[in-house]
Amino acid sequence: MMRKQQWGLYIHIPFCRQKCFYCDFPSFAGRERYEADYTDALCRELAVQGVLYREKWGSPRTIYMGGGTPSLLPTGLLEKILQAIADVFGDAADREFTVECNPGTVDAAKLRALRAGGVNRLSFGVQTFDDTLLKKIGRIHTGAQAREAMALARAAGFQNVSMDLIYGLPGESLADLERDLEAMVALEPEHISIYGLQLEEGTAFAKMQEMGRLALPDEDTVERMYDTMTAFLPAHGYARYEISNFAKPGFESCHNLSYWQDVSYLGVGAAAHSYLEGQRYENVREIPAYIEGIRTGKGVRRQEEAMTREIAMEEFAFLALRTACGIDRARFERRFGMPLEAVYAGAIAKLKRQGLLEADEAGVHLTPLGMKYGNMAFEEFLL
Ligand code: SF4
Repeated sequence: MMRKQQWGLYIHIPFCRQKCFYCDFPSFAGRERYEADYTDALCRELAVQGVLYREKWGSPRTIYMGGGTPSLLPTGLLEKILQAIADVFGDAADREFTVECNPGTVDAAKLRALRAGGVNRLSFGVQTFDDTLLKKIGRIHTGAQAREAMALARAAGFQNVSMDLIYGLPGESLADLERDLEAMVALEPEHISIYGLQLEEGTAFAKMQEMGRLALPDEDTVERMYDTMTAFLPAHGYARYEISNFAKPGFESCHNLSYWQDVSYLGVGAAAHSYLEGQRYENVREIPAYIEGIRTGKGVRRQEEAMTREIAMEEFAFLALRTACGIDRARFERRFGMPLEAVYAGAIAKLKRQGLLEADEAGVHLTPLGMKYGNMAFEEFLL
């Protein structure tokens, strides 16, 4: 018998026109020759796995197509994927359906096709509006294209648009960030994600750093950037509901919230992760191996090592603490069969004393100071 359960569907599109210098996501440039075969394989995986979970749990509450650069796919291939989704799950007006877009890869026809296919939320990777900085970080678009993309999105009927910014870029000043924030709110997206630049292993930036060729803003400047953005966005109507995410009322990303709230999700596509009934799975990462695995029926998904109970608790705590709501006591107890304080009384007391955490009957959440020094707080939740 079908047991209705909230769950999300993630679809991974691993193609990019060029690899951004800071990016360690599973995405590849120069693999356009695989786009058609990849789409076919993806639709087959979607049909098989999608039906399985639909029969168990009903339709997903959220769908998120990310990458990579989903908007790089030709319109015809995107329509094929949208049709495969409709074939399995039908339409659902109340479903949040997001597609990530690079402003350098959209046009009016493509956005209209996405809207017609049931997509109701777009997420644009803007990162900065400054063309010099955009070049320095390896983006393929300009600030003007980001503005144009927003106009095209509105014209195509999208009333829920998110934009990403990154701060702490090489050569960036506080005044540059202030200009970016002004430019961003002038476009009135419903949702803004903003991240401090991280140097990830294996990226072009990590190599440049090793060679002493990366001039990043100093720590004081980055701290002032953080303080500026956390004051600026709420003052302009964007409430902070997660460490890196801000939204106008009612426009929080349901899909991302479900990751932070321990909800199951099915990932399809190369390198996609799934979290199903407490188990984690990972699809093969390489595009040809993924296509081959689907085509031959050998399969593409492997179960990750089962998490110990301690690791599951830590992960639950870290993810929930990223959100403004924090850790929900009842949910923790339901999941682990013991009260939150039975595991974390010491950590909670210490962080409260330091002003990093607040506790009430419903649960515990980070204070603004706790969000700023999130790593200090997370460390206390390690078991
Ligand atoms: S477009 Fe996105 S996924 Fe692709 S390389 Fe740049 S940051 Fe990574």
